[in-house]
Amino acid sequence: MKTLNDFNFENKKALIRVDFNVPLNDNFEVTDDTRIISAKPTIIKVLEDGGSCVLMSHLGRPKGVQDEFSLKHIVSKIKDVLGVEVKFATNCVGQEAIEKANELEPGEILLLENLRFHEEETKGDKDFAEKLSKLGDIYVNDAFGTAHRAHASTTIVAQFFPDAKCFGSLLAKEIESIKKVLEDGEKPVLAVLGGAKVSSKITVIENILDKINHLIIGGGMTFTFIKALGGKIGDSICEDDKMELALDILKQAEAKGVKIHLPVDVVAADAFSNDANTKVCDVKQIPDGWQGLDAGPESLKIFDTVVNESKTILWNGPLGVFEMESFAKGTIALGNSIAKSTKNGAFSLVGGGDSVAAVKQFGFEDKVSYVSTGGGAMLESLEGKTLPGIAAILE
Ligand code: AMP
Repeated sequence: MKTLNDFNFENKKALIRVDFNVPLNDNFEVTDDTRIISAKPTIIKVLEDGGSCVLMSHLGRPKGVQDEFSLKHIVSKIKDVLGVEVKFATNCVGQEAIEKANELEPGEILLLENLRFHEEETKGDKDFAEKLSKLGDIYVNDAFGTAHRAHASTTIVAQFFPDAKCFGSLLAKEIESIKKVLEDGEKPVLAVLGGAKVSSKITVIENILDKINHLIIGGGMTFTFIKALGGKIGDSICEDDKMELALDILKQAEAKGVKIHLPVDVVAADAFSNDANTKVCDVKQIPDGWQGLDAGPESLKIFDTVVNESKTILWNGPLGVFEMESFAKGTIALGNSIAKSTKNGAFSLVGGGDSVAAVKQFGFEDKVSYVSTGGGAMLESLEGKTLPGIAAILE
């Protein structure tokens, strides 16, 4: 696996695919610069070697050229974050981009206009990728968020750099974290899967069952399992057509020696509302007219014990409807348990969906080992898929 440290960028131009798909407000100001900060180590390494950077990214989902999706809006923010001047090319291919890339001196940065202003980008067009490839000497992919897409700048372009391509430090960290959990994880390995639906997590569950010792199932998914086991779930969210599959997962887990932990009690509400009346119920005896919206106190005690005994922890999906304060306690308690276990030496990875939002919202970001930057890409990795953007560097 080639990383930045395998190259000396002195007098070289690095063509870096970054993920600067950042949120902007109505005044086109960046409201969250996490993704720019995440790309900083890669860019700084190239500059410190005595090289220059040509940065390419997408922003949003434009239909053709649309000013609101122009990367020109974020030039000053990048400059602030990096502390280095940033030049800008108003088209990611063509004469201006070629000239500006050619004129780059060591220590300088050029940002190219939104790749998705050209439909060839998402189509993975080879000619377009070849044009991009002319803008640098070494291709660096540092965009985990788009590594599951076979786009021109994330995948196809790599073939024009057979001996000069590598992972940036962010992408390398993502790959290492997944490996640390699914391949080299110190036992016991625990996965916590929450979120709304079983259907969106089936492939993940099936892929990880061979790699884990404990599985906590929480969130809305719980009720498909509980109903399948004969429990009364009232008006809780449930996928009836997935009940058989739920029983099959339990059987597979047993055969593989994976211990499954389902909630034993829930916080039930008489409406899907923050102001609803609530009561704690046995998870198998939720009255009609009530729905389970968070894990109950007994469940949280059991989960805390399992988390504390685990040496490797993967967390994907909240334990309840954490967007509403009344049903966020379970997710916060789990975050606290994982933070405590991490402090005691466990490796914890949070990724792939709403758990990242929850971790940020409740301030656990610095208390877990790693928070993934790519939702879809992380989910596909957990499903055992080889991401095209990663394969293209390894080839
Ligand atoms: P996911 O994107 O799969 O991680 O699902 C996250 C969503 O699941 C969040 O918006 C939560 O509000 C929702 N969720 C978690 N627990 C429940 C529940 N018991 N009932 C309904 N929705 C839930």
